Amino acid sequence: MNEIQKYIAANEPKMMDDLFSLIRIPSISAKPEHQPDMMICAERWAELLLEAGADEAIVMPSEGNPVVYGQKLVDPAAKTILIYAHYDVMPAEPLELWKSQPFEPEIRDEHIWARGADDDKGQAFIQVKAFEYLVKNGLLKNNVKFIFEGEEEIGSPSLEAFCEKHKELLKADVILVSDTSMLGAELPSLTTGLRGLAYWEVEVTGPNRDLHSGHFGGAVANPINVLCGMISQVVDADGRITIPGFYDDVEEVPGPEREMIAHIPFNEANYKAAIGVKQLAGEKGYSTLERNSCRPSFDVCGIWGGYTGEGSKTVLPSKAFAKVSCRLVAHQDHHKISKLFADYFKSIAPDTVAVKVTPMHGGQGYVCPITLPAYQAAEKGFEIAFGKKPLAVRRGGSIPIISTFEQVLGTKTVLMGFGLESDAIHSPNENFSLDIFRKGIEAVIEFHQAYR
Ligand SMILES: [Zn+2]
Repeated sequence: MNEIQKYIAANEPKMMDDLFSLIRIPSISAKPEHQPDMMICAERWAELLLEAGADEAIVMPSEGNPVVYGQKLVDPAAKTILIYAHYDVMPAEPLELWKSQPFEPEIRDEHIWARGADDDKGQAFIQVKAFEYLVKNGLLKNNVKFIFEGEEEIGSPSLEAFCEKHKELLKADVILVSDTSMLGAELPSLTTGLRGLAYWEVEVTGPNRDLHSGHFGGAVANPINVLCGMISQVVDADGRITIPGFYDDVEEVPGPEREMIAHIPFNEANYKAAIGVKQLAGEKGYSTLERNSCRPSFDVCGIWGGYTGEGSKTVLPSKAFAKVSCRLVAHQDHHKISKLFADYFKSIAPDTVAVKVTPMHGGQGYVCPITLPAYQAAEKGFEIAFGKKPLAVRRGGSIPIISTFEQVLGTKTVLMGFGLESDAIHSPNENFSLDIFRKGIEAVIEFHQAYR
């Protein structure tokens, strides 16, 4: 055992008591009856940050649930790390599927079982305990700030305004987040990319009322037929999106990262079997793992119009609708894409119909370059703690706060997450491996040692 491992072993009973004290507070942001628990949980975190060695830890108001802010500033010339986490959790239902009480943590089979054991109380606790180790051993060389919010599970509605208001307070060289997962316990990885999103509703109008398809069919354009034809033009035979200018800002994935993606163990046959398809599809020249993480995509999320009730009704409908979306990648601006799509979609409409495109929500993608010094420090931390160089992995989904940080604070985030698929976050029997908990603390300590 090295010094860090000995320290963790000696302090683990107290660590578990403190982590469990957080988990026992049912800080469920989605349920109004838990409103008082949000403040109780925030105050408990502030207490624990002070105990860990923060010079200051306060609970600050936001437009929604309170935000915990803490800091220890050691040297104005040193780097500053802002650690973001969230203290709210998902509801625990369905309760009958839990093997032990969701808010009464239990240790079984070397795992902590409870709501929040991983997401995100357990993972946030790793950050705080690593910080504590550095402070108590006189090893902290960088300034550390903490921001723990209480609304992540409901979409962080107040965080952007909070960041705007407290830009100076939140100023940092890098943001560190432990709220993502690794490919496997034996396959450590760091998330380096997240996709953005643009979403629209389209409405195609033909005749001024539903028509008799016997009297009018063949002579009047059917808006549903037209809409289907238009949608089919958005992606070509090579799986490329045809919207002019769509790829202008798309960042080509650097060679070393494509190399890493190629090394991710991936069984295409299992993947197909799991979703019940015979063949996969997508953009020519890219692998499945590239297509679903670092390339943009276009999908129809819903389509409707005409008669969809029981039996048959011969009708030529007046209108057709669809909800469509694009997953975007780094450097594609969702506002710009939103306009490009609207212009293009209207331009391909025949004169037989009128087309309306209504933009809905959107979000920017994110990429953390693997050349970023803080990324490399995280990589080193993982390598020491897990004994393997972590793979850089881009994820197909989005974490809106990460791009918000980049836009509002101008700061890059390193996603140093320790979860596993099997941790069942948001589900019954959420759990967190003690082995990974310990390695996580070690990895974060090594991150701080390596980042200068
Ligand atoms: Zn989370």
